[in-house]
Order: sequence, then structure tokens, then C-alpha cells
Amino acid sequence: MPELPEVETVRRGLEPVMDGARFTKVDIHRRDLRWPLPKDFGERLQGKTVTGLGRRAKYLLADLSSGDVLLMHLGMSGSFHVFRESGDKKLARYYHEREQHAAHDHIVFHMSSGAIVTFNDPRRFGSMKIVPRGKLETEPLLEKLGPEPLGNSFDAATLARACKGKKTSLKAALSDQRVVAGLGNIYVCAALHRALLSPKRIASTIASKTGVPNERAERLVEGIRAVLNDAIRAGGSSLRDHKRPDGELGLFQHHFRVYDREGQKCVTPGCRGTVKRIVQNGRSTFYCPVCQK
Ligand SMILES: [Zn+2]
Repeated sequence: MPELPEVETVRRGLEPVMDGARFTKVDIHRRDLRWPLPKDFGERLQGKTVTGLGRRAKYLLADLSSGDVLLMHLGMSGSFHVFRESGDKKLARYYHEREQHAAHDHIVFHMSSGAIVTFNDPRRFGSMKIVPRGKLETEPLLEKLGPEPLGNSFDAATLARACKGKKTSLKAALSDQRVVAGLGNIYVCAALHRALLSPKRIASTIASKTGVPNERAERLVEGIRAVLNDAIRAGGSSLRDHKRPDGELGLFQHHFRVYDREGQKCVTPGCRGTVKRIVQNGRSTFYCPVCQK
């Protein structure tokens, strides 16, 4: 499932072909995504210009010249692919590839930049929605989201306040989108390993009773930022069928510190531990019982 770094990678891949470009044509092959597309979906995009392409947690937000915002979510298996109208050799390869997947190309944007952007999603947990910009603040999909982990409003104090009195595990707390937005199983495991904190540790132990952060909260914030920045730099992970918009696979799966490394040596310098897998809230957690306390 794509997490924040993958979505940010997609955003950076789409920005050059969508930002500043107009929707010249919108093909809708299936409307029954996670939620049905509104009847006027195509109409509200057609002829409108994208004036900015942002991201909030795992949502892509395309600002439109009409005052609407197009919200896009990749769900479990969604991906965007970019093709060119004009066929140079390199891009012809993508045309070929596209034909193979075309059955799951549910939405196709033809942009005035000359790019064709397809949204492909075999499992259809992805979604798109159009919201007036003025209603974005109260949009139910976004309104309960916690701070952006790479933004200025996220620091040890915010995280400690969110974890104050929480009796759940740190793993569960960090997976909660209200505590911090955009993290999922892979990066929560990675961040906890980086911060040398056990996923089983009780969340409230990173703060005092009144919610003042301790040194663990500082380490955790640094760990979260570091793993996300590393992953974005590496182009997002390519687990399952998630692909970068240009068709290239991301590279981050080769750099996982603990995820999917059960039984292998811990990579923390000087640690002689072995990565262990446990199940928390029905999801696999990978961690090193030796250096993560
Ligand atoms: Zn270790």
C-alpha cells in the first residue's frame, strides 16, 4: 500500500505534466472506484487548468482554475502512468505497456501539455473526488488528519501531546492518521527502528503526564523524518504493483532497515541482534529486540 513517500514520488512525477496544464479531455472507463465518481466529474475537469499539485498525507490535491480541488487517493493498488501523445521511441515502450494494463485504466486525463495521464487500479480501493477549495478545511477525508510529518507543525512537542496518556503501543499510535498523517506499516517500522524504540512500548512513555516531550519523542520525530526523506529520495518503494508515474520502479525496497527482514542481522551499527516479526493489530511488525527498547 502506498505510503507518504510513494505518494510524494507520484506527485513529483505528475507535477511537470499536470501543473499549469489544462484537461483537454477526460475519459472515464469506470465510475465505481472506492466511492462512485460524481456524475459531473468529467465536466468539472474538462477545460480547467491545474494551478498547483499538492499533497496532504496520502492524498494528491490538484488545484483547478475553477476554484475546485481534485482529490486523488491511490488506495491499495492504484498507480498513475504518464504517456506522451507524440511517440518518440522511448515513450513507445510505454504505449505497449499501457495496452497490457488498459483493462484497469479507469480514468484517463488528456492534458494540454501533451501528456496522457492514466489512473490504473486493479482493486479499485483508490478514489477521486472534487471539492470546492473553500470546503477543503471541512472535507471529511482530510479534516481529522494529524500533522504532516515533514511539515513545520510536526515536532517532539506535537507528537508528545498526541501520545499523552495513550495506553496503546507506539506502533499503533504512529499508524493512527490523527497522531501523524501519512505513515503506514512499513515506515512506522522503519522509524521506530531508526529511533531505537520498541514497537511494543506504550505510547504515553514518550511524554510526561502533562504531555511534555522527553528525549524519546525527539528521537522518534528525527527517525520519522529521516526514513521519509530517505524514501522520497529513493523514489518511493515499489512493493506490489506500485510504480512511479514514469513507469520506473522505485528503489526503496532495497533499503528497508527492518521491514520484511525477519531472521536477518540488524543493521544498527554495533548491534548483534536479529530482526524479529510479531503481529500487532493484525499487521506484521518487524523490529530488533536487542537495540529497540
Ligand atoms: Zn538491533
